[in-house]
Amino acid sequence: MRYFLSLVVLVLVLAATATTAATTARAVRAVPAAATLRVVATTEDLASLAREVGGDKVTVDAIAKGYQDPHFVEAKPSFILKFSRADLLLIVGRELEIGWLPSLINNSRNSKIQVGASGYLDASADVKILDIPTGQITRAMGDVHPSGNPHYWLDPGNGRIMARSIRDRLTQLDRANAAYYAQRYDDFDTRLAAAELRWDAMMAPHHGSKMVTYHRSWPNFVDRFRLDVIGYVEPKPGVPPSPSHTLTLIEEMKSQDVMIIAIEPYFDSKTPKQIGGQTGAEVLVLAPSVGGVPGTDDYIKLFDYNVKLLADALARAGK
Ligand SMILES: [Zn+2]
Repeated sequence: MRYFLSLVVLVLVLAATATTAATTARAVRAVPAAATLRVVATTEDLASLAREVGGDKVTVDAIAKGYQDPHFVEAKPSFILKFSRADLLLIVGRELEIGWLPSLINNSRNSKIQVGASGYLDASADVKILDIPTGQITRAMGDVHPSGNPHYWLDPGNGRIMARSIRDRLTQLDRANAAYYAQRYDDFDTRLAAAELRWDAMMAPHHGSKMVTYHRSWPNFVDRFRLDVIGYVEPKPGVPPSPSHTLTLIEEMKSQDVMIIAIEPYFDSKTPKQIGGQTGAEVLVLAPSVGGVPGTDDYIKLFDYNVKLLADALARAGK
């Protein structure tokens, strides 16, 4: 009898617990939950812009870290999980991620973020793209992107356009927060415009200054700040340095009195240092992406860092 009573009590307790849980679940559902869209961005730059516009209505994950070469990213299982849960995928496009992104999208089995779906945003659609090749592309040209240079986020004017595209897409996916996204974008736009005045003033004395870069990562940056890249440490995009190309580059730098070699943090600095030793040029590690080096935690800080580093080095070189 005692055993029977205990069993009855246990059943009642379990039933009560289940009822409470169900009531709680209903209560949670009845209150309109704060919308948090899950955003996955292929790079830290896109992630930073998404945080600027999305604020606390979004959670944002970046795949390629700023100190990694975004052309080559190892597709980890944890990335597939992020892709499978995403409401919105932001990509740089222009074939930057062609080596690793398609398999992640496929393996996610997430219909929201498939190419062409409303949760898939190629941020390059409206920006200024440089280096669009004319004529036939051959393998001999190296890793040339047929739809133009994908490193376009390094022009703050393009960053503004990317943020606007993100605002528009977030609004489309989450109409209830349209005013919030609009206000966040306007605030970012204002801060970016103020920062651009600052950067332009810092670079003004150095217009036309010549430099060499490792990879072709900086055409939009030098176009925006009116610098002149006369050559690359890579003989062709994506091709490692060769002794003959390095010799030619050294001669060219000497004849044009080039005093700056800018490299990305993920390239070996051995050849650039050699070239610097031969020419007297200073080797600068610029940040090609948010998080590329310490102190570049967001999109505006990325330019604060690069502009100051370059302007100071050019001033030291008397250029
Ligand atoms: Zn590239």
